[in-house]
Amino acid sequence: MDGLTILAVIYSRVRPHYKIDMFSEIEKVKKIALSQFGNDVAQYFDAVKNQKKLIDQKDPMAYTDEAFVRDIFKQLRQAPVESFKLEYELTETQWLMGKVVIDSASLMDEATLYYTNLKEAGDWKAEHGDKEQIIALSTQLKQLTEQLNSMKAGKPSTNSEVKKESSSTGKFEEWRLIKVDNKEEHNMVERDGKKWYWCDEHYRDNKKCGMYCTHTPGEGHIKWQERKNSWKKGQKSENATGAASSTPAPANASKPTAPSAASNSDSKLALSKSLQAALLTTAGLTQDQFQKIWDDACNESGN
Ligand SMILES: [Zn+2]
Repeated sequence: MDGLTILAVIYSRVRPHYKIDMFSEIEKVKKIALSQFGNDVAQYFDAVKNQKKLIDQKDPMAYTDEAFVRDIFKQLRQAPVESFKLEYELTETQWLMGKVVIDSASLMDEATLYYTNLKEAGDWKAEHGDKEQIIALSTQLKQLTEQLNSMKAGKPSTNSEVKKESSSTGKFEEWRLIKVDNKEEHNMVERDGKKWYWCDEHYRDNKKCGMYCTHTPGEGHIKWQERKNSWKKGQKSENATGAASSTPAPANASKPTAPSAASNSDSKLALSKSLQAALLTTAGLTQDQFQKIWDDACNESGN
C-alpha cells in the first residue's frame, strides 16, 4: 500500500459517510438547469463551475471531467435557440464517437463565446414559446378535422383538395350534391377514376339530402351504414377496455363490398392513432381528454 491509499482508508474510517456526501454533491451539479438562469448560458456555467470546484477540492476523482462534460451537454441541448441547440447536439455526437477531444473548460469557453455572439446579434431568441406551440397544435387539429370531412366525402385527402372542398360547400364538393339526370343506373357518374352513385339516404344540417357516394343506394347504403356503425362500436369497446393498441376495428373483419369505404375507415383509424399519440405525448392530454376531442371532431364532420 502506498501512502495515498493508506490515507484514503484512514479517511473513510474516520468519515464513513464521506462517499455518500460526494454523491449528493455531484447530484446537486446534475440538477442545476440552464432554464433556472433564464437560459443565460454564462450564468449557468458560473454556477456549475463553482459546484465542480467544491467537489474537486474534496475528492478530485469523484466527479470526472468527462462526466462533467456530459452533464453540460445535456443542458446545452435544452437551449431554446435552435441553431445553438443543434450545434451542441452535433458536437456531443462527435465527442461520444471519439472524433473530437473536449474538456469542460474549453467547452464552456467556446459555448459562452457562441452564446454572447448570438445575444449581441439579437439572435438569442426562443423560437417556440408555449403559445406558438398551442397555435400550431390547433392548426394541426383543424387540418385533421378537415381531413376527416374529406374522408366522409369518400376521397383521398390531400391538403389542396381539403381546401377546395371547404371553400365550395364547407364539406363536400359541389358536384356531389347535384344529381345528374342521365340514363345510368342510380345516375352513376365517373369521377377521379371511381364510380359514384346517387344515394338519397343522407343528411346535411339535419335535413335529408341526396348526394353522390361510392356505394349504391338501397342495399349498398345499408351495408355502408353497417360498416360505419360497427367501426364506431369498435372504437367504443376499445375505449372501454382502455387499450391503446393498434388492433383493427371490427369494421375490417366484415367483408367490405366497397373497397374505398373500407380504406376510409382504415385511414380514419390510423389517423385516430397517430393524432392520439401526438396529443398524448406532445400536449400531455389524458386518454379521456383525447377521446372527447376526437368524438367532437367526428361528430362535427358527421363521421
Ligand atoms: Zn348512401
